[in-house]
Amino acid sequence: MLIVGSDLVEVERLLVSGELSCPSCRGVLGPWGHARTRSTRALGAVVRHRPRRARCSSCGGTHVLLAQVWLVRRADAVAVIGAAVEAKAAGAGHRRIAAALGRPDSTVRGWLRRFTVRAEATRVVFTGLLHALDPQAGAVVPGVSVVGDAVEAIGRAAAAVVVRLAPVEPWEFASRASGGRLLAPLSGAGW
Ligand SMILES: [Zn+2]
Repeated sequence: MLIVGSDLVEVERLLVSGELSCPSCRGVLGPWGHARTRSTRALGAVVRHRPRRARCSSCGGTHVLLAQVWLVRRADAVAVIGAAVEAKAAGAGHRRIAAALGRPDSTVRGWLRRFTVRAEATRVVFTGLLHALDPQAGAVVPGVSVVGDAVEAIGRAAAAVVVRLAPVEPWEFASRASGGRLLAPLSGAGW
């Protein structure tokens, strides 16, 4: 799985011109058909999309190219999940958040639990990105919750991307920078 930008024409151009690197070995990726069609939910609607598949010319591995609006193995757009996380950071409970977003309680509780488990690792990674993008940036000062601190680190790193590189939605940046693994199980390496 490789998280790519949300401009499909640009992704296709990068793929065809050999400008995408293999996430396993950094070799050159080329076109390799499509993955299965999936239905995922954005804020207002169900979106059916068929991600591109790519194959590495060095190691032969194949990778699904998933747009940064999604996360790995999640049926909802990262903007929806991010809105839930921000509401939790602001003190809302999962039932209220679920009602506001029109999602099942159990789904929202699952997102929030997983984000909370990863929150400290997330804060560390995105604080590192913030300081890499903007060496002058002040510290991310610990607040009332580890979830809030992680949200602040993501928001500040995304703002630094906007200033230094290009406009990006904060949660799409978070998906891209985490390889779509914002809610994935913690690996042995801690991220
Ligand atoms: Zn490879």
